[in-house]
Amino acid sequence: MMPAESWLVAPPLVLIGGSFIAAAAGWLLGRRSTLRSASFRNAHNAMDAGEPQSRPAARSLSEEYFRGLRFLLDEEPDKALAVFLHMVDVDNDTVETHFALGSLYRRRGQMDRAIRVHENIMARPALSEEHRLHAMFALAEDYFSAGLFDRAEQLFLQLSDGGRWHISALRYLLRIYEQQRDWEHAIEVHGRLTRVATPEHPTAIAHYYCELAEQTREVGDFDAARAYLHRAREAQRNFPRSALIRADIALDMHEPLLAATLCQRVVELHPRLLALALPRVVRAIRDGGVDGLEQQVQQRIRSEPAARAELAYAAIVAGLEDEAVVRDCLPDLLREDPSLGEIVHALAGEPGLLDSAQRGALATALGRILRRTQRYRCVECGFASSSHFWQCPGCRSWDAFAPVVLLDLMPGMQRR
Ligand SMILES: [Zn+2]
Repeated sequence: MMPAESWLVAPPLVLIGGSFIAAAAGWLLGRRSTLRSASFRNAHNAMDAGEPQSRPAARSLSEEYFRGLRFLLDEEPDKALAVFLHMVDVDNDTVETHFALGSLYRRRGQMDRAIRVHENIMARPALSEEHRLHAMFALAEDYFSAGLFDRAEQLFLQLSDGGRWHISALRYLLRIYEQQRDWEHAIEVHGRLTRVATPEHPTAIAHYYCELAEQTREVGDFDAARAYLHRAREAQRNFPRSALIRADIALDMHEPLLAATLCQRVVELHPRLLALALPRVVRAIRDGGVDGLEQQVQQRIRSEPAARAELAYAAIVAGLEDEAVVRDCLPDLLREDPSLGEIVHALAGEPGLLDSAQRGALATALGRILRRTQRYRCVECGFASSSHFWQCPGCRSWDAFAPVVLLDLMPGMQRR
């Protein structure tokens, strides 16, 4: 057969200009710097004029290739696919075009076509092992994009032991296990990945242990839960999520002082988690049994206006607007939040002079507004939600959710 260069045809591809073809052309142009123009002209002329070719193999290949391109241009992807699937000369020289076609289909969201292209490549016996593995990886990506996680997992597992694709395969496996909440397998794959590369989210493994701790705590197996939390802290020191779950277990086991102390420590190290720690502290105080716990907590509330404003805001975010601490700290919040403070000042006067009933009504109204709005936002991708997530559903980042600005009326005024 002819060398691959003889059918790679730069000028018509450039003239075509369509975005779909342009991607393939870009690959071809970048890949093949040693284009043989004479061979090309022969093939091109032969196709246009029906002129006999001196080398039948080349002519046959070009005709198939151009027929496929024309179907693509005419927006007849099924016919184009049929031509490319039945091209006889899929070997180590021509296979890259098929890879380009498969990835183009995938980028257009035409997963069934991408899958057929990559399956077709894998079925060709003349290919090198390297191309066969490349096709396997591309097919696994197709399955993943199509949500066929079982099939994707099988292929990524085959690729994960070594070779060119193994790190990428491990990263995909991690995404699959995270999506399926299969934390045992996620832990195993994270460990394998850490040995050969830097994981995308190094703290993720501590979260996997915390997920298992929450599952076991929910069924009352506190020993197992604490063992998982121990593993989480081994993976990540001062890990706030494990401390909060440990506080939940302490509350379950009627140890309110321990729960309050753990929450206090979390807030000291991670101030933006105040809204998550507060409800646990409130529950510890309500559970009672510890003399002076409420006074202890009150004494630990820092006296600076900014800290008191944060506390009031976090309590409202956490749905605790009826607590006395919110009414106490509300004037500080109104002074610290310019837009809200101005409105209240115009309607009712100096925030510090509001009576208890006014503060209570205001806190209730703010709580109602916040429940209708998105209270948390991912600092990585901007995904907003009314509830807190340890892993962003938008970009899969861990630990990226933070409370949003109170009324969100003034862009750029975010508290954290
Ligand atoms: Zn995000």
